[in-house]
Amino acid sequence: MNKLAFLTMDVESYFDTSCLKNTDIDRDQKYNCAEEVLTYAKFLSKNDIKGTFFVTVDFIKYCKDYLLEAISLGHEIALHCLTHQSYKNFSKEEFKKEIVESKKIIKEELGVEPVGFRFPRWEYKKELLDVLKEEGFIYDSSVIKPNKSFKKEFGYIYIKNGLYEFAPNIWKFPFKTVLLSGGGFYRFLKGKSMSRVLRKHIKKHDTFMIYFHPFEIHKGYLPVPKRGILQVQKKYLTKNRDVYLDSIQKMIEVLKENGYLFSNMKEYVYSKEK
Ligand SMILES: [Zn+2]
Repeated sequence: MNKLAFLTMDVESYFDTSCLKNTDIDRDQKYNCAEEVLTYAKFLSKNDIKGTFFVTVDFIKYCKDYLLEAISLGHEIALHCLTHQSYKNFSKEEFKKEIVESKKIIKEELGVEPVGFRFPRWEYKKELLDVLKEEGFIYDSSVIKPNKSFKKEFGYIYIKNGLYEFAPNIWKFPFKTVLLSGGGFYRFLKGKSMSRVLRKHIKKHDTFMIYFHPFEIHKGYLPVPKRGILQVQKKYLTKNRDVYLDSIQKMIEVLKENGYLFSNMKEYVYSKEK
């Protein structure tokens, strides 16, 4: 079987970024970075890649037209839940209500039915995965380091109770796990060190997933808190955003050189279930 790469975006506002919570920055919606959804959709299409967009439903009002264009370009719309909050304290019933509501709005606004899900902030809860299955989802993509209750399928893809799980690629240290799949990683380690680590990883594994957020490819100014956040968080918000898409472009070339094909998650599951 060919090696496979999945390019995804978590569609959410710049203001949904965890380290901006409870800070007093300028929350003018002109800084929400919604337009970068379209930037990325076009970037993927230029590379002849069909991506997966995990959409936070309360952000659709700012990026509806961009998402519709992404759909017309053939990209997949998946769900990043109703609002960008932690669902860790939700009961199954409460979570189900959010899912039903989310699906209804996505159907009305975008005309599609998502079959994939990613929890905001990678904060998943076991019991809630069952709700996804009950509500017709065929995959989830939220579990970092799936435990033994998940059956390994291929590369970083697992199955549990009939639900596929696309885990992010990681780099394990004794006391720390680095998410190689995105977030700030490429932006922090630009250049040689990045390519060394990643090239090795890509050679060794069969699947690779990339995820990031609209603000991370925004080239212009964004408000950053002056106080109350760590230096590393400040860097996460600002570092190398202007060249991030170039880094992703390089990654795509490296993946191709190593024999990877590109798929979106929905198509992968459908191909297995045929
Ligand atoms: Zn998110």
